[in-house]
Amino acid sequence: MSVLLSQSFRWFARPLRLAVTALLTVVVATAILGLRYGQERQAANLAQERNRQVLETLERLRAVIADVEAQRRGYLLTLDPQYLKAYGVADEAVRRDAQALQALVAGDPLQSHRAGHLALIVAAKLREVDEIVKTARTYSGPAAMAMIRSLDEIRSQLDQMVDHERFLHVDQEKRSEQLEHRKAWLIATAILIVAVLAGVALALARLEAIRRRKAIAENIALHGDLLARDKKIRYLVDANIVGIIIWEVEGRILEANDEFLRIVGYDREDLTSGRLHRTTLTPPEWRERDARTVAELKRIGTAQPFEKEYLRKDGSRVPVLIGGAMFGEGTSQGVGFVLDLTDRKRAVEALRQSEERFRTLVQFSFDVYWETDTQHRFIHQEFAEDLADAPTPGSEIGKTRWEVPYLEPDEEAWRKHREILDAHLPFRDFELARLGPDGSKRYVSVSGLPVFDEKGGFIGYRGVGRHITERRRAEEALRAMQAELAHANRVTTMGQLSASIAHEVNQPIAATVTNAQAALRWLRARPPNLDEVRYSLDRIVDDGKRAGNVIGGIRALIHKVPPRKDWFGLNEAILEMVALTRSEMFKHGISLQTELATGLPMVEGDRTQLQQVILNLIVNAIEAMDGSDEGARELRINTETEAAGVLVTISDSGPGLDPEDAERVFQAFYTTKAKGMGMGLAICKSMVEAHGGRMWVSANEPRGAVFQFSLPLAREESVPARQVRSNPAA
Ligand code: ADP
Repeated sequence: MSVLLSQSFRWFARPLRLAVTALLTVVVATAILGLRYGQERQAANLAQERNRQVLETLERLRAVIADVEAQRRGYLLTLDPQYLKAYGVADEAVRRDAQALQALVAGDPLQSHRAGHLALIVAAKLREVDEIVKTARTYSGPAAMAMIRSLDEIRSQLDQMVDHERFLHVDQEKRSEQLEHRKAWLIATAILIVAVLAGVALALARLEAIRRRKAIAENIALHGDLLARDKKIRYLVDANIVGIIIWEVEGRILEANDEFLRIVGYDREDLTSGRLHRTTLTPPEWRERDARTVAELKRIGTAQPFEKEYLRKDGSRVPVLIGGAMFGEGTSQGVGFVLDLTDRKRAVEALRQSEERFRTLVQFSFDVYWETDTQHRFIHQEFAEDLADAPTPGSEIGKTRWEVPYLEPDEEAWRKHREILDAHLPFRDFELARLGPDGSKRYVSVSGLPVFDEKGGFIGYRGVGRHITERRRAEEALRAMQAELAHANRVTTMGQLSASIAHEVNQPIAATVTNAQAALRWLRARPPNLDEVRYSLDRIVDDGKRAGNVIGGIRALIHKVPPRKDWFGLNEAILEMVALTRSEMFKHGISLQTELATGLPMVEGDRTQLQQVILNLIVNAIEAMDGSDEGARELRINTETEAAGVLVTISDSGPGLDPEDAERVFQAFYTTKAKGMGMGLAICKSMVEAHGGRMWVSANEPRGAVFQFSLPLAREESVPARQVRSNPAA
C-alpha cells in the first residue's frame, strides 16, 4: 500500500494529500488507543483474576476457620478426641491460605496490610485456641465461647478483606464496562478507517488505472509519432535531396543514401566493405577543420554546418556544405547531412563574372553607376576608377541629386525633372553642371530607369551618369565655329547682295530727295500749298523709315552677336528679308508672291539666325532661277500653322534638284556654283534643328525646288505671357 501511495503521490492533488495525512493521523491515533486498550484490558483481567483468587482464598479461609471452629467447639462441648482428628490439617491449611493471600494482595497496600494482620491474628488465635483446647480437660462451655470469640476476630478481618475485594470487584466491573465501550468505539473507528482506506485504495487504484490507460494511450500515440517520424526521416533519406550519412565519430561511414554516394562518386559496395572513411574523403588541408568539428561534436553533440571539400573517388573535388549531430550521450555514432554546392558555387561564380562584366561595362561606358530609393536619395554609387573628380565615396549617400550643390540647370528644369521622377518614368540625358575641384564647371549627363518589385511597387531608380564636360566644351567650340561660319556666310551673302542693297538704300534716299524738292517747290509757290508740303514731308518720313529699316536689318545681319532666345513674329522677320532682296529679284525679273498666314503663333528663338535661313533660301532661289531661261521666274513664300508648329515654304520655278541631290545639298561644302562655298544650306539646316525644327527639300510642280522648314511651338501656357513681353513689332 505504501508503495502504491508513494507511486501515486505525484497524481495527488493538494486537498487529497491533506485528507490522506488526516487519515494517517487517525490511523496512528487509533492504533495507539488500541494498544492502550489492550494493555488496560490485560491489567483489568489480571486484577479481576487476582480479585477472584483473593475472594476464593478468603472464602476458603472462612470455610477452614469454620471447620476449625466446628471441630474445636465439638471437642470442647464433647471432649471427644474424634473431633480433633483433622486438627493438624486444618491449621496447616489456614496458615497456607493466609500466606497465599498475602502473596495475592501484595500489590494492594491496604489489603496487604490487612492480610499481614490476618496472618498474625490467625497464628495468634490458633495458638490461643490450642491453649484453650489443651487446658479444657473437662466440659468447658466458657472455653468454647472464648475460642469462638477469638475466631470471630479472624472472621471480622476476613469480612473486611472480602468487603474490600468486593468493592474492588465492583470497581473493576465498572472499569471493564468502560473498556468494553472503548473497545466498541475502537472497533467502529477501525472499521471506518478500513473502509476509508479501502475507498482511498480503490480511488488510487482507479487513478493508477487511468494513469496507466493514459500512459498506454500516450505510448501508442508516441509509437505512432515515432513511426510517422521514422517514415518521414526514411523519406528524407530516400528522397536523395541531400546526402545523409551515419558515421562513427572517429570517421568511418556506416550508412549513406544514394545522394551522398553520388556526391562523392563511390558505390554501395564501397560503403558495405567499409572503404568509406572521413580521412579518405577529406583533402589534407581540410583535415584540421575536420578535427575541430569532431571536437565540437564530442563536446556539445552537434556541429554547425560549414563548407568544405570532399575528394571524390576519381580524385576530383566537390564543394559541400556539411553539418551533423551525435545520436546522444554515450554513443559514438551520429548523423550528418551533406549538400552538394557545385551548382551554387557555379552560380556564384557566374554571378561574380557577370558582375565583373557589368563593372567592366560601367568602367568603359559610364563614369558613375547609381541607385536611389523611393525618395530619390542615393543609396549606392560606383565611380569609374579613372574618374578624376569623383566625389568622396559615401559623401552623397542619403542625399537627393538636387541636394548635392549644382550650378545648372535652373529651378524650372529641376521641377520638370522631379515631375518625371515622381511619375516613376525613365529619363535620358538629364544634363547638369557641378563645380569641379579646380573651380571650373563640370557637366554630367544622367540617365535612369525606375525599378519595381515583383508586385509592381516602386523601389527606386537605377542609372548611370557620364561626364560630358569635354563634349560640352567641344560642342561649345563647334557652336562658336558654326556661329563664325554662319556670320561669314551672312557677310558673304550680304556681299552678293551689296549692289541690290545699295539700290534698296539708295531708292528711299533718292525718293526723299525728290519729295524734299517737291516740298520746297510747294513752299515757294504763291500762296504756298501747305497740304502738298505736308504730303511730301509724310512721304519723306516713310522713306526715311524704310531706309532705316533696311540699314537696321543689314546691321543686325552683319553684326556678330551671340545667339539669343526671343519671342518674335516670323512674318515680320520674313518681310524684312524680302525688303532686302526685292531689288535683286526685280533685277533678275523674278516675281514674288507672299502668302503669310494671319494669326501665326509667335516663335521662340534667335531672330537673326532664322532671318539668315530665310535670306539664304531666297538668294539660292534667285540664283537657281537666274541660271535657267525656262518659263516665268516665280518665287513664292508661304507661312502656315500646323499642329506641331509653324511651316515656312519657299518655292521657286528654277531647274530644281535631282532626287539623289535632295540630301546632299544639306551637306557642308556641297555646291554646284563656281564661286559657291557649299555652306549655306548646311548652316541653315543646323540652325533650324538647333531651334528644334526640321528642314527638307522637295520638287516643285511643274518645275523648281521647294525648300521647307518647320519650327515647333513652345509650351502653350507660357506663350501668351511672353508674346506680350517680347513682341515689339506687334
Ligand atoms: P552655295 O550656294 O554656296 O552653293 P548652298 O549650300 O547654299 O551653297 O547650296 C548648295 C547647292 O544646292 C547649290 O550649289 C545648288 O546646287 C543647290 N541649290 C540650292 N538651292 C537651290 C535651288 N533653289 N534650286 C536648285 N538648286 C539649289
